[in-house]
Amino acid sequence: MKKIKLAGHTIKIKFVKSLPSNELGKVNFITNEIFIAKKCYDLIVPDEQKAYSLCHELAHLYMYLLSMHELNDNEPFIDSVGGLMFQTFKTYIMEHLIE
Ligand SMILES: [Zn+2]
Repeated sequence: MKKIKLAGHTIKIKFVKSLPSNELGKVNFITNEIFIAKKCYDLIVPDEQKAYSLCHELAHLYMYLLSMHELNDNEPFIDSVGGLMFQTFKTYIMEHLIE
């Protein structure tokens, strides 16, 4: 199990076989857990999509921890923030820091 620390909370990241309603990711704000699906509609989710889903769920969690609940409920906003975070990791961090 992977864990990260955010604003004094320990966040557990769990990669699970699949999620209800064929979701790609889900965050539980009560238990501080992020779930990322390995399969969706019986298809294997590519690693890049799993990374994108993790960024999306982290964007939800950031807004929750910052008490910006109206932004947390704004899916297009969350997906934009998550998408930018994913692009940052993909185009800079993975290219330049991880060899
Ligand atoms: Zn969402």
